Amino acid sequence: MKLITLILAIAVAFVVADEEELPLAEACDPEVCKLPDCRCSLTGIPGDLLPRNTPQFVLLTFDDGVNIQNIETYRATIFHRKNKNECPIGVTFFVSHEYTNYQIVNELYNQGFEIALHSITHQIPQTYWAEADYEVMMREFGDQKTQMSHFANIPSDALKGVRMPFLQMSGNASFQMMASADLTYDLTWPTTRYQDPGLWPYTLDYASSQDCITPPCPSASIPGPWVLPIITWSDLEGRACSFVDACFSRPDLNDEEGWFRFFVTNFERHYFGNRSPFGFYVHEWFISWNPAVRRAFVRFMDLLNNLHDVFMVNANEVIDWVKDPIPLDEYKRKPCRQIPRAQCAARSCGPLTSSHTEMSYWMQICNVCPRVYPWLGNPLGQ
Ligand code: ZN
Repeated sequence: MKLITLILAIAVAFVVADEEELPLAEACDPEVCKLPDCRCSLTGIPGDLLPRNTPQFVLLTFDDGVNIQNIETYRATIFHRKNKNECPIGVTFFVSHEYTNYQIVNELYNQGFEIALHSITHQIPQTYWAEADYEVMMREFGDQKTQMSHFANIPSDALKGVRMPFLQMSGNASFQMMASADLTYDLTWPTTRYQDPGLWPYTLDYASSQDCITPPCPSASIPGPWVLPIITWSDLEGRACSFVDACFSRPDLNDEEGWFRFFVTNFERHYFGNRSPFGFYVHEWFISWNPAVRRAFVRFMDLLNNLHDVFMVNANEVIDWVKDPIPLDEYKRKPCRQIPRAQCAARSCGPLTSSHTEMSYWMQICNVCPRVYPWLGNPLGQ
C-alpha cells in the first residue's frame, strides 16, 4: 500500500514537472536565503531594523505612453521637487510603446526619473497576457528594452523594471524573461493578505507566500528577479485597490480635502507600521482630469517632502536599499543619485506604415528614423 502511494506520488510529481517544465520552488528558509541576492517573502524589515530607523520609501508611478499632453502634468507637479534631504525625488514611468514620444522619455530620464517597461503592444484582451509564454514575453519586454534604449537614446542598463499591462500576471513566463533579459524587478503583483504589515520586496529562489489575485502566479524557482509587491490601498469602505484611480468607494472628485485625507490615511498604514514601501500608482489622466484631486496630490507630496524620514525614490532604488539595508541616519547622509546626461538628436519620422493596423504613424525619437513603424517582432522598425 505504501509502495503504491509512493509510486503515485512520483507519477504526480512527474506530471506536474512536465506541465511546468520547471522544478517547483521549495519552501523558503531565511537561514539559507540571505541578502543581497536572496530574500524570502516576509513582512520583516530588511536588516532587522526597527521601524524608526527605517527610511519610509514612497513609490510614485505613472503608466502607459508618454507624450506632449501628459508631460505638462509631470513638468508642473513633479519636476524640481526635492525630498527633505535635498535630493531630487524619484518617480518611475512604466512606458508602453504605442503613441510614446521618445524625446519626452529622454527628457524624463534626464530629470533623474526612472524609465521602466510596460510592453510594446499593451494589447487586449487581458487573457493574452495571462496566457503569454516565454517567447511572447521576450518579444514584448526583452525587445522593448532594446527599443526604448535605441529610440530614447538612454543606456540599456538603466532599464530595470517591468509592469504587466492590466496588472495581469503570467505565471513563470514573465520572470523567466526577466532573468534572461537582465531585468531587476517586477511591480505587477498585488497583495491584500500582506497589506498591514506590508510585504517587503523578495526574490523567487524559493516559493512565495504571497496571495495570487490575478493568476497565474509563478510557481518555479527563478533566481535573479525581485518581486516588488503592490501593497493594496483600502478604499473608504475597506475594499482593496491597486491603483489610486481604481479605488471603488472614494471621495467625491471635487472634494480636495477628502482626497488629501484619503492619501494620508493610506500612507499612515505604512509610516506607522513596518515602513514597507508605500506605492502611489496612478495614471496621469486621473490627475489632469480632476483639478481637486490634483491639488490634493500636490499637497500630499508637499507633506511627504517635509518629513525627514520619508523619501520619494525611483523603484529600483528600493531594491538597492533592500539588498543593503542601511539605517535611516546613514541613508540620509548618502550623496544624491547622479545620472550622466543622455543626448537627444531629435528627429520626427513619418509617415511610417505599420504591420498591425492600416494606419500610418509619426514618431518623435532621438535616433535615426526607422523604415517602418516598430512593432512586435521588429522592435527597431528595420
Ligand atoms: Zn497600462
